[in-house]
Amino acid sequence: MGTPRWSPHEELSKQEQFVVGRLKRTGKLFAFLRSQRHVLFDEAFQRELESMYRATGEGKVPVAPGLLAMVVVLQAYTGASDAEAVEHAILDARWQLVLDTAGRKRPAFSQGTLQAFRERLVAHDMDRRLLERTIEIARQTAAFDWKKLPRQLRVAIDSRPLVGAGRVEDTINLLAHAARKVLSCAAELSETSPARLAAKAGVPMLAHKSIKAALDIEWSAPAQKSSAIVTLVEQLDRLEAWVRRELAGEIDELPLSEHLATLAQLRAQDLDPEPPGGTPRIRKGVAEDRRVSVEDPDMRHGRKSKSKRFNGFKSHIAMDIDTDLILACAVMPANRPEEEGVPLLRDDLAIPAHDIRELFIDRGYIASADVQAMADAGRSVVGKPWAQPNGRFFPKSAFLIDIRRKVITCPNGKQRTFELGTTIQFTPSDCRQCPKRSGCTAGALDHGRQVRIAPDEPLQQKLRKEIASPAGREHLRERVVVEHRLAHLARKQGPRARYRGTRKNLFDVRRHAAVLNLETIQRVEERAAA
Ligand code: SF4
Repeated sequence: MGTPRWSPHEELSKQEQFVVGRLKRTGKLFAFLRSQRHVLFDEAFQRELESMYRATGEGKVPVAPGLLAMVVVLQAYTGASDAEAVEHAILDARWQLVLDTAGRKRPAFSQGTLQAFRERLVAHDMDRRLLERTIEIARQTAAFDWKKLPRQLRVAIDSRPLVGAGRVEDTINLLAHAARKVLSCAAELSETSPARLAAKAGVPMLAHKSIKAALDIEWSAPAQKSSAIVTLVEQLDRLEAWVRRELAGEIDELPLSEHLATLAQLRAQDLDPEPPGGTPRIRKGVAEDRRVSVEDPDMRHGRKSKSKRFNGFKSHIAMDIDTDLILACAVMPANRPEEEGVPLLRDDLAIPAHDIRELFIDRGYIASADVQAMADAGRSVVGKPWAQPNGRFFPKSAFLIDIRRKVITCPNGKQRTFELGTTIQFTPSDCRQCPKRSGCTAGALDHGRQVRIAPDEPLQQKLRKEIASPAGREHLRERVVVEHRLAHLARKQGPRARYRGTRKNLFDVRRHAAVLNLETIQRVEERAAA
């Protein structure tokens, strides 16, 4: 059986006209999708979707990929789960209007079909094509008046926190959770129950549904808490030894290998590698890149601001300032610096970098090599530079930095040459005798004032110069549209990630971005028609 093609009829039936007539105030996108479904899922795009099945020759489905892709869009628009989507397709007139499923007595697709389709979309990166497709449609939409828009794009990038879907646990629960996964997997391979295997391996505590209840100590007593971690580590050692001995042939095979690797990762990050006397104890401080959830390996601690923390991801977008269209998306673990989002967005962009005339950034992106490359290539980079406070002493901005001559001049007129990415020190004898010393440095008399010259100093200087003028500040304020766009995305998608892992959440961000783009096209068309 070949992959079926979605061929919904174009003419509006009387019933459909009635439903469209009701969609004037809310649910407007349903009506838009009904009118545009032939364009969005034209023959060429449906062939691309079908190629996901032809690639392996496997998994031929009885449901047209075009129809399932439209369901993915509707789910993002309405927030419907797979189970709800199945029901909406046979009970909700608005879904039926878009999916062409009116009058059907049986569901057009199942939950399993939807899940498998989503996995296939992700595996073939077709969620990216779905977002691109909305941009292609916008480019064919005369209402945008492309002739009046700049030929080269003005792109703004920014990010927002996405709280992870996995459970975040403390060290004891995290280790016990990972051990329970090993135990359950080993029990399945041994064709027994976890409780029986735990008894056999001498780790009864790990079969308990709450490790803290099983340890049964006074958690506010430091000595008891220390002994609890020792007991837990003994149980972990025993379990691992049993598995390696009894299931030697399976330890390198999935899924057991993955569960063992998770347990090893958590032990390495949360336990002191060199405890005094060899007695296990929890590591002091936080390990770099610490995993915070057993169920979601990609979630990390992140910061919304200096004081506000969250666990999960950061989702980045790149948008065209002049059309409001989202062009690219990226999702990263929350602990990764902003600048790492830029290459991901660059790879996601369906347009070459030389088509970008201006790039509006948040200062977190300044350190990106891509941003620097754009500035070097003569593109305009617009953003706030880093502030340079220095307490009661002269800030860096009090020094004259001549990038061309690579000379820095201090407030007392003393000069030093520099290289980018280095820290220079003024001559100690100059600083010692300087009448401005008290306002410049509190260092020892045999030390001169130090100034760090950043690798991206030329760009920072340019940004500083720009925001010093009213025209420059007004130009910078154009960036606010990306913040509004992120707020729209947050309202649609919610503050929490729907899925586990960066890739699935990237899919979710992309499909919500596609919906926002479609709403933008609809709005522009409405405005042009008014
Ligand atoms: S203390 Fe040194 S660096 Fe600072 S103004 Fe005086 S001479 Fe210049």
